[in-house]
Amino acid sequence: MADFSPLKAILSGSVILKSENEKAYQQEVDETWNAATRTRKPDAFIRVATVEDVANTVKFCVQNEREMCVCAAKSNEFALADGAVVIDLSDLNTVTVDVERKVVLVGAGAKVGDVDKETARHSLVTSLGSYSELGVTGVTLLGGTGFFEQIAWLFC
Ligand SMILES: Cc1cc2nc3c(=O)[nH]c(=O)nc-3n(C[C@H](O)[C@H](O)[C@H](O)COP(=O)(O)OP(=O)(O)OC[C@H]3O[C@@H](n4cnc5c(N)ncnc54)[C@H](O)[C@@H]3O)c2cc1C
Repeated sequence: MADFSPLKAILSGSVILKSENEKAYQQEVDETWNAATRTRKPDAFIRVATVEDVANTVKFCVQNEREMCVCAAKSNEFALADGAVVIDLSDLNTVTVDVERKVVLVGAGAKVGDVDKETARHSLVTSLGSYSELGVTGVTLLGGTGFFEQIAWLFC
């Protein structure tokens, strides 16, 4: 197990270790959708609060030769791995709608439901997945089906 204290000292978010906070650690594990993934035992969860946190965590992992996982809504089996440092993006969930340009700026940890809630205020929609608890980045990287495929052949 690496010494996470140098990372803790510069992070705005939090480092969650099983040895220090078993309840928070277990909560992170239990948030994964896939029951099989819940048996995995990452070394740490890094609940990042800023983009700088992400950069600092990646630097820390590279310097300490630690395997990394990235997760947002934890719906996919790749969200956790044994012995890994898991970068949990779920607090980076801002959504900004530019109505004039019809462009949505989405934080790396935002969920489909976060985006739908904001775009609906302006009577706009996107072609993301149909399940609102999915992560937007995850569905963009690994998904492919949504409500719009049936009416306009649009996929995420
Ligand atoms: C109940 C359920 C319903 C689903 N419904 C649909 C659907 O309607 N349409 C559809 O197309 N798919 C659907 N899927 C599949 C889903 O889109 C994929 O599993 C998707 O990858 C989930 O993303 P996530 O953020 O929720 O999960 P995560 O496990 O957090 O992330 C998924 C993958 O993306 C990577 N990742 C996430 N965020 C980032 C980031 N910011 N930068 C780099 N890598 C990142 C992770 O490392 C991981 O490999 C469904 C899955 C489930 C379990």
